[in-house]
Amino acid sequence: MKRLQRLGSSAALRDLVAEIGFGAAQLVQPLFVVEGLAAPEPVPGLGDNDRLPLSELGARVERDLADGVRQFMLFVVPAAKQTRGFDASFAARAIETVKARSSGAATLWVDTCLCSHTASGHCCLHDAQGRQDLPGTLAELSQLAQVYADAGADGIAPSDMNDGRVARLRSTLDTAGHDLVPIMSYSSKFASNLYGPFRVAADSAPQHGDRRSYQLDVRSARAAQAASLRCAEEGADLLMVKPGMSSIDLIAGIAARTGLPVGAYQVSGEYASLTLLAREGLANFDAALLESWYVMRRAGAAFIITYGARRARALGLP
Ligand SMILES: [Zn+2]
Repeated sequence: MKRLQRLGSSAALRDLVAEIGFGAAQLVQPLFVVEGLAAPEPVPGLGDNDRLPLSELGARVERDLADGVRQFMLFVVPAAKQTRGFDASFAARAIETVKARSSGAATLWVDTCLCSHTASGHCCLHDAQGRQDLPGTLAELSQLAQVYADAGADGIAPSDMNDGRVARLRSTLDTAGHDLVPIMSYSSKFASNLYGPFRVAADSAPQHGDRRSYQLDVRSARAAQAASLRCAEEGADLLMVKPGMSSIDLIAGIAARTGLPVGAYQVSGEYASLTLLAREGLANFDAALLESWYVMRRAGAAFIITYGARRARALGLP
């Protein structure tokens, strides 16, 4: 008799034939640091992922390192909203703090976008007529990236989805002597309703309109593949789908077509859906979180950006 249950009958047999495995080394922990904040502030739905003042950032990183986190994605929220000429000095202090407190044990990626800086909350600049100012946008992004790399960022992660940004950042980094600093591109990023908690955390909700002119339409896999191909051609080292859980159908195809590692960003709304289920007694949070990671890995994700990375050891991952 065909018995599919046979290989499932013990933990040792299930481990033997498991097609995927991963550990804390493949998980990236986001961090939010907010200029001018007096004390940590919780973010709805994100559990222990607080908005942190700079004075708390180093201690948080030390605790996370002790819990096995090795990869961080830093989101910097400056106090002042500006229209142009963005000030990256607070970001530089935050980057220096993480690097100083982690003694080389942490790989620090820095999210690179304009939406925490702009008064409009958009990821690009607009001209007086309200049209996108692409040259101005790319100039601002590359200036930020250079400051981040100068301050010690290990990798630059552009999340803006504007055309041409990866090529521009690569050229800027190379010229500034940062030719070994990799670019992790948010390459297939959809306009999604699942970014709610993040926009609270990063203070980046658009003040007018929406982001559908530069983020992807969820109905189109073709456009999502084209966006990742564009980033690969422009010189990205790592690609990403976002939201991760609802884009798992795209990962393997993008990896096959580009030959690059493709990660999945388990976005704030996806993560919060698990915390809210657990709060209502409708799911075991840790088990559901682990399941969600397994699914993204099974779909081919080389790495996962998740607000639960610091729980990996507690969940039994190596
Ligand atoms: Zn943005």
